[in-house]
Amino acid sequence: MTHRLQLVAVLLGLALGLVWWWRSAPPPTAYVGGPVLTMDPASRVVGGLAVEGGRIAAVGSESSIRAWADERGARITELQGRALLPGFIDAHGHFPGAGIYAVHVDLNSPPIGVVEDLEGLVGRLAERARTTSAGEWIVGWGYDDTLLAERRHPTRRDLDVVSTEHPIALLHVSGHLAVVNSVGLEVLGIDAETPDPEGGIIRREAGSRRPDGVLEENAAHRVMPLLSPGLVDGVRIVRHAVDLYLRAGVTTAQSGGVDSGTMQALRWLSRLGVIPLRLMLWPLDEAADALLEGDLEFPAEDPWVRRGAIKLIADGSIQGYTGYLSEPYHVPPGEDPGYRGYPRIPRDALIERVVAFHRAGFQVAVHGNGDASIDDILDAFEAAQRVLPREDARPIVIHAQMAREDQLDRMLDLGVVPSFFSLHTYYWGDRHRDRFMGSERAARMSPAASAVRRGLRFTIHCDAPVVPMEPLRLVWAAVNRRSTSGASIGPEQRIGVMEALRAVTIDAAYQHFEEDEKGSLEPGKLADLVILSASPLEDPARIDALRVVETVIGGRSVHREGP
Ligand SMILES: [Zn+2]
Repeated sequence: MTHRLQLVAVLLGLALGLVWWWRSAPPPTAYVGGPVLTMDPASRVVGGLAVEGGRIAAVGSESSIRAWADERGARITELQGRALLPGFIDAHGHFPGAGIYAVHVDLNSPPIGVVEDLEGLVGRLAERARTTSAGEWIVGWGYDDTLLAERRHPTRRDLDVVSTEHPIALLHVSGHLAVVNSVGLEVLGIDAETPDPEGGIIRREAGSRRPDGVLEENAAHRVMPLLSPGLVDGVRIVRHAVDLYLRAGVTTAQSGGVDSGTMQALRWLSRLGVIPLRLMLWPLDEAADALLEGDLEFPAEDPWVRRGAIKLIADGSIQGYTGYLSEPYHVPPGEDPGYRGYPRIPRDALIERVVAFHRAGFQVAVHGNGDASIDDILDAFEAAQRVLPREDARPIVIHAQMAREDQLDRMLDLGVVPSFFSLHTYYWGDRHRDRFMGSERAARMSPAASAVRRGLRFTIHCDAPVVPMEPLRLVWAAVNRRSTSGASIGPEQRIGVMEALRAVTIDAAYQHFEEDEKGSLEPGKLADLVILSASPLEDPARIDALRVVETVIGGRSVHREGP
């Protein structure tokens, strides 16, 4: 989001901000008549819950809560057998990224989207080109080379068929690769003379130095600033994302990797009531440095928009062949049978960055998928603790997809919270088994059961917009580990329903240092709630079929299922 958006948001804020502050507190409400899954330390399931002044006033039996309601003259919400849970807390994602399809072209393949081959992809982009003025960027998100009939990335030449007047940029479903057409490469100043950046690759046409349009990792990162939406598009994206999250029962959204302009814009949009969700922001790169240097002021204790861990990125994604592994990929992407991916940031530089942020008192969250990358990350966390021992630092490994057993042991020792992208078993499970990892390694990716066995606290996430924000499908995936084809992917890493639910509620709150305020239904905590069509404990195989009936934030109903 641009500074223009920030400025207009500030002006709107002056006009409308007071309205937000003057809004009256919601009336006291009692929820009775259905199971209340508290997610408290004993995982109690009770019969009722009372809310007053935006916080939980009481939890207990149905009769005790009905008596409370009588006494207060409180409103009563009859659950009629539906289940009440703490609102879902996003452990890692990229709010408001899920709203991008309100503005950019959706290039996802089934089961998320409809693009099946390059012809379909080109067709959708050409349609957009017809309504876009020449010279303006056309942006498409979510294509997956391994789901296209041709089984390859589109190239500059494929996209030149769409337009030689518009610059075009496509983002791979992983967010770690981009494809740009010839005009786009020109605008970006990338040509045969451009060297590969550190931690990135500009792919070349066979037998030449000419870029073929595909950009990996830090090379792809050059595209990002050009894609910042203006004010109108920015608000459209945010509003669409808010709608998707509230429908999914999410009450705290996470923005894992934001610049300082976006941080300020999101704070203002929150104050204006455009974002009724609570937000947890993780500053990246320039914003992280600005915080370290004291150049960025961001209040830590706002109950709506909080600044959390500093985010760093150590490698790429395994489905993009850029995850950094200790053993070669199962089917290598090119000629080299020993190809293991690569680090996005050299080990020593990573250690230096982690130590610097840890020393300055920040929580640190590092993206790492491949086990070689996770080795580097854990070395960095260990070095940080050696330089400055700090109890309860809760460093995070984002994804920790190929974490080995010995690495989980180290995580326990170092107080690390791994956050697993457990929907990988569903969306990419078959391909991890057949192409990327082979069956043995695929079976133990996102090793949640190994974490449970150690008593290692972990979270699970959707990484929206990498896949849709669907916490119930996420819980289902961690419990069942079934791929899109129905195959079982590492059944020994399945976990119980309660364990999976904790990973999207109380343990996600713990990861964010918010367990005193959120994540369980206990007196005094924020009344952030979700009502589901039935209890997820009833039929673990069908959790993905449950519906979100209502979402409540701070005691206020912010979404109700339509008729
Ligand atoms: Zn992410």
